[in-house]
Amino acid sequence: MIMRFSRLTALCLLALVPSLRAQTTPLGSPPDWNSLTTYARALSDSDFTDALKSIYLEPTHYPTPWIIGPDGVKIQTGDPVNPTVTIPFASRIQAKTSPPRFWSRASELPPLGDRPPLSDIHIAIDPGHIGGSYGVMEERHLSFNPGEAIQEGDLSLLTARILAARLKTLGAYVTLVRDQPTPVTKTKPSDHRLTAIETLKQSGFPNPTDSYQGIQGEAKLLTIQWQSEKFFYRVAEIHARADRVNQEIKPDLVLCLHFNAESWGDATAPQYSPVNHAHLLINGCYSPAELANHDTRFEMFTRLFSRIHEEEIPLAKALATSLAASTGLPPYTYTTPNALPIPDSPYLFARNLLANRLYRCPVIFFEPYIMNHKQTYQRLLLGHWVGRTLIDESLQSSPIEDYVQGIVNGLLTYYKANRPA
Ligand SMILES: [Zn+2]
Repeated sequence: MIMRFSRLTALCLLALVPSLRAQTTPLGSPPDWNSLTTYARALSDSDFTDALKSIYLEPTHYPTPWIIGPDGVKIQTGDPVNPTVTIPFASRIQAKTSPPRFWSRASELPPLGDRPPLSDIHIAIDPGHIGGSYGVMEERHLSFNPGEAIQEGDLSLLTARILAARLKTLGAYVTLVRDQPTPVTKTKPSDHRLTAIETLKQSGFPNPTDSYQGIQGEAKLLTIQWQSEKFFYRVAEIHARADRVNQEIKPDLVLCLHFNAESWGDATAPQYSPVNHAHLLINGCYSPAELANHDTRFEMFTRLFSRIHEEEIPLAKALATSLAASTGLPPYTYTTPNALPIPDSPYLFARNLLANRLYRCPVIFFEPYIMNHKQTYQRLLLGHWVGRTLIDESLQSSPIEDYVQGIVNGLLTYYKANRPA
């Protein structure tokens, strides 16, 4: 489940945009623009503009903080000492450069021979959210009856553990980005109080209430406590996971496991949703406001020049097809401009999320199942099982098992078709 902006959040963010211009995102670092020069002559001008138009930018026309010339792209850095950096394109007569990266494409793997089909592939599984005692704070705790509950962070970890075991038997090397219902970040919510206060002040709320105790509805968003917790579990936590992925794990791909939800209203009296659906996300569809932040712009260009999308899109298409088949869920359709449909794959969209932007390798986000769909909720309460069990007088499979099967089948299909035999 990925937080959709409420009306109040959208208002807050709109208020934030002008003051954040020429800055970095909250908890983001000023980029090392010089490191982008390692991508000189890595892409031709047509590779670059095609990827920009078809994947990375929202499909609207707007002035961009870069200029594309015949020989390269000149990007505004926001650094007064070195205000622009130019990355030259590969010319038609020169070979393209191949800057170093830690991940391998399927086509670069050693020949498989008669070894298990996922041999040599390092797969990181990132179970979405934290779960455990953090589920309520994360607003990912759902209970329709006393004594029972599901939490997205716990379901994603359970799915990750079962998936990891299956992938290992197929020869893959697997690492969980989080293997316990505890945070990866070393920070605490209280460490983010100053960021919370500053954010609220910049949004036009100079004297915010401290605690949300006793406050109902969206007014909670305007408290220091709610904002500090959000920076902890949604921003600092993802930065910590990105450090682990990029500096320690260095995998060939990351699978980010989530369960989706439709708005369930007040957590103490949740509502069922009549719909159930699935979708997958890859990185892209950056908005003008997002690209005004130096770190976001730098991260987009790093992904684009690393050609991550060339591996990410066909891999995601194979996984979307197999997950649709294993779960039987219909595709979700976005009605907001923050997601770009990928042609010929109704379950697949490009979207700019913190995790799929910061992890420097192919990243596939999975968003199957509506947790507050009544039948899905009842199935998820039972956890994981293999085969079919009787629920409400009909034999049903485990959504977690169907989720795992979908990913395993998609990976087998993709690597069988794309790695050397
Ligand atoms: Zn989620």
